[in-house]
Amino acid sequence: MREVQPMIINNVRIFDGKRMLGRGSVEFADGVITRVMADPTPRASASSSASASASASTSTDVIDGAGLTLLPGLIDAHTHVFGVESNLELALAFGVTTELDMFMGPPDATRALCTAAGERADLADLRSAGLLASAPGGHPGVAMPDLPTVAGPEQADAFVAARQAEGAHFIKIMLDDGAHHGMSLPALDRATVTALAEAARRRGLLSVAHVAALWSARLALDSGVDILTHLPLEAVLDDAFVSRTAEEKRVVIPTLVMLEMSTPETSRPAHMGRSLADDPQIVGHLPEHARIAIAEGHEGLCIEQTSPGQHFAHALSSVLSLHRAGVPVLAGTDANYRPDRACPVVHGAGLHAELALLVAAGLTPGEALTAATSAPAAHFGLADRGVIAPGRRADLVLVQGDPTKDIRRTRSIEAIWRGGVRFDREAYGKRATAS
Ligand SMILES: [Zn+2]
Repeated sequence: MREVQPMIINNVRIFDGKRMLGRGSVEFADGVITRVMADPTPRASASSSASASASASTSTDVIDGAGLTLLPGLIDAHTHVFGVESNLELALAFGVTTELDMFMGPPDATRALCTAAGERADLADLRSAGLLASAPGGHPGVAMPDLPTVAGPEQADAFVAARQAEGAHFIKIMLDDGAHHGMSLPALDRATVTALAEAARRRGLLSVAHVAALWSARLALDSGVDILTHLPLEAVLDDAFVSRTAEEKRVVIPTLVMLEMSTPETSRPAHMGRSLADDPQIVGHLPEHARIAIAEGHEGLCIEQTSPGQHFAHALSSVLSLHRAGVPVLAGTDANYRPDRACPVVHGAGLHAELALLVAAGLTPGEALTAATSAPAAHFGLADRGVIAPGRRADLVLVQGDPTKDIRRTRSIEAIWRGGVRFDREAYGKRATAS
């Protein structure tokens, strides 16, 4: 980690990733949080050697946090970076300090980008599934002839071993019959998905399944997959499904912002994705092409084919049922915008829409913030981040106002630090909007 000046933020509201601690001060040095003092009780002793050496050094930068709230750096638990470095810069410009990528290739380039993202302070950090598991002739391999597929349970372990050797941080499993793309394609069967989930577990990797329909959500649950991502749009998950998901300690990443763009109509007059385009706090930091994509985005844009009876409101209700049953719900956007693609779910900015949608579903703003900080860190094994506490990475976002009362305050970003290094947001905004 680069040597940087110790920093202390005083008189600031502290949301530690789980709850609002109240007003206090946070100190960090050399990329790590060294002290958290919440009034009136100190939450950590000042006896650590790191904080002692920080106070002994020549100078400490001091920020007055009056009127501001400090959050852990945000984590987007479902993105697609497509090997494009600028997506990670855009993410960081909106306070997303870590992205979990759910499908990227080729493996050498993915590994190189993960390494670069781990070392550079001007990019969001990155974890990736690398190549995903799908059926021969299925989605998305039917359009990607070089993508390795899994023909049956006997091939599962070799598939997982190959991804692990390539540096994959978790295993992504595609459960999709092509219906959303107007096709009828073969999909992985239960025996194969079970073997993939077991192979991943044996090798110490999490399994994440793409489930955008009732049949695939059930298949994932029956097969022992750890994490389900997306949600069915054709119906609300029933009570039996929800309680089983809770009892078996599964985790769900709904990707509401993507689901909203995937339904032909919504229950609200203006969808959240587009509302970003009307928000000066968002557009002031977006590259022009991304701003235009969001402004021109419309419902149903992100899939080729919708079926009758698909309603975004179903997914919102499922999120609330899962959350009430105690299922961890993680904030993930499925950000996959790139200039040649219509679907305008944008890195970084999209997470602020996802947070608002989680609140629209019924989470409190504080619970939505947990879904984008400590919860993804805990469930993806990122033990060094996601929480404001001594010893954790100084991945921090300073915002105006109190986002635990109004979730839209996450957009009022004052400062972002990644590993203790401040991101020059103003310079980025100028560069991005000039392009
Ligand atoms: Zn995805």
